[in-house]
Formats: sequence, C-alpha cells, structure tokens
Amino acid sequence: MTANVLFAGHPDAWPAYEPLLKAELARLAVDADLCNEFPPEDVDYIVYAPSGPVSDFTPFTRLKAVLSLWAGVEKIVPVVPAELPLTRMVDSGLERGMTEWVVGHTLRYHLGMDAHILGQNGHWEPKAPPLAKDRRVTVLGLGALGTASAQALAALGFQVSGWSRTQKEISGVICHSGADGLKAALAQAEIVILLLPDTPATENTLNADTLALLPAGAKIINPGRGPLIDDAALLAALDSGQIGHATLDVFRVEPLPPEHPYWAHPNVTVTPHIASETRESTAAEVIAENIRRAEAGEPLLHLVDRSLGY
Ligand code: NDP
Repeated sequence: MTANVLFAGHPDAWPAYEPLLKAELARLAVDADLCNEFPPEDVDYIVYAPSGPVSDFTPFTRLKAVLSLWAGVEKIVPVVPAELPLTRMVDSGLERGMTEWVVGHTLRYHLGMDAHILGQNGHWEPKAPPLAKDRRVTVLGLGALGTASAQALAALGFQVSGWSRTQKEISGVICHSGADGLKAALAQAEIVILLLPDTPATENTLNADTLALLPAGAKIINPGRGPLIDDAALLAALDSGQIGHATLDVFRVEPLPPEHPYWAHPNVTVTPHIASETRESTAAEVIAENIRRAEAGEPLLHLVDRSLGY
C-alpha cells in the first residue's frame, strides 16, 4: 500500500523540500505520496519541525514514525507520543556547516584576530601567535557534530580532547567520559566548544564549579544549546577574568532579549543561532532513506533514545 508522507516542516521550506524528497523517494523506489496536507488519519509518516503546523499528534491514528528535520530534539521529544519511533537529523550538510563555523571561531581565538582586526590603535607589537600544536582545545559532546568538529581541529594540528557520555575512540582526539572525564577534559582546555544536546543531564554543564576547572582566561564557544551554560556563572567568570571571552550562538530564550547582559558585554560575541542548519538536499536523502527502511521493516537511522532525550 502507498505510504502517505506529510511534510510538516516550516511552510516556507516546502517548495525546496517537495522536489528533493519526491526525487529521493522515487530514486529509492519507495511507494509513497508526499504532500503538505493530508487528512490526519491517512498519514503514515510526518517529516517534522516544531516551526511547522503540527503540534498535536493525537489525530494521526495510523502514524508509523516521526522524522525530525532538526538535529536538536529537546522541543520535539516532549510532544511526540513515546511509543512512536522518532528520528533526528544527522545530515552531512549540517555537519559541514557546523565544522566550518567551529573552526572559524576557534581560529579567531587561537590567532588572536581581534587584537589585530579591532584593537591595534597604532600599537606595533610584533608577536606571532603559537602554532595549533601548542593550543589545547576541548569539545564537549562527541556525536555527529562534535566528532566532525574535533576531527577538523585535530587535522589542523590542535591538541584536541573531547568528552561524551559513553567512551569514544577517535583518531587524533583524546577522549574522556563520565564525571571524572569532564574534569580532565576541562582542566587544560584553552578553548572549549559545546556540542552537547539539551537534556536534563546536560543542563548547566558549564556552571560555577566547572568554569573554575578551566585555566584562567579560557575561551568558550557554544553552538550547542543555551541551557548547557549557567548564564549567571558565566557572566561572573567573564567579569573576574576566569573566562577570557565567549562566543554564544544559542540561548535559553531566542531571540536573545535586547536587555540581556550578553549583548553589551565586551567579552561576549553573540551570533543569532546560525552556526549551522539542516541543508535540504542532503537532509532529503536521510529522510527518504528512513522511510524506505521503515517500509522495508529495517531499523531506522538516528533514532532518538526517548529515555535519554537525544
Ligand atoms: P549527537 O546526539 O550526535 O551527539 C551528542 C553528544 O553529546 C554525544 O557524544 C553524547 O554522548 C553526548 N552527550 C549527551 N548527553 C551527555 C551527557 N549527559 N554527558 C556527556 N555527554 C553527553 O548530537 P549532534 O552532534 O548531532 O548535535 C549536538 C547538538 O548540536 C544538538 O543536540 C543541537 O542542540 C546542536 N545543534 C546546534 C545547531 C546550531 O546551529 N547552533 C545546529 C544543529 C545542532 P554519547 O556519544 O555517549 O551518546
């Protein structure tokens, strides 16, 4: 029987996704109809984003799976019924974008670009930056995006450490896990990059205690999620000089309210949640492949573990 696939991403995304998803489903010989409107009781799969039209899943009585267009699923896990398979987005285009953003901001800190671009003021101080091999960088979260970023930094020669829930082995990266592993990962990190998901277990991973573990003047780059950082503790650490500078792409409230102290802080760079995004052409391949698998009775890729929340 033909499977009905409802596109319930942001309505503006439909014109781009429609031809790509149709082409991919046809290429994989999946017997499926794709539309952005179906009677709910006829829908087999929902391609989903919280910015789309669906917030109540109860009318979708024959739903087989929900396929998220977003990598971060903290807003999706609570609304999709627990018995339904839920997949998250792992997309090579998203991965590429994040890697480029992370490398760019790491190089800004490593090379001390601000001092030369913004702050010369007629001052001639010929001091070359160190080589990457003498710079220690730590990536918190070694999943799809953290691993790709850590590997790219290692390829540039940085001393890269990483931390994850379960122990990893990644060539060129010193991998830590568990509570003691976090201490070890932070103890020597001159630049810390957060690529953890937003879950109850990761909230305030950087707090007053863990910020104090970093070497004085360490830099923080957060393209993960706002709740990973205790904002009051970070502001205090920035004011004391324990943290030298922070580049923040994600926040507890987005858009970041105009009165938030991060905007005006001289040692904070705010970027508007643009580190990376799902890229339609590569994402369509992932979605179509998962529909093919579901229809063939094969295991789905990138399933969210509902008990862990990511
Ligand atoms: P993954 O699920 O692939 O990776 C998550 C990583 O975090 C894994 O290594 C996981 O460990 C680790 N982790 C989870 N919980 C814990 C914990 N309690 N303690 C230690 N480590 C933990 O996610 P992605 O790499 O695909 O994405 C990461 C995040 O990036 C997303 O959740 C999203 O919030 C954010 N994002 C931001 C974007 C932006 O533009 N700013 C764009 C896209 C995503 P383990 O490997 O052991 O499971």
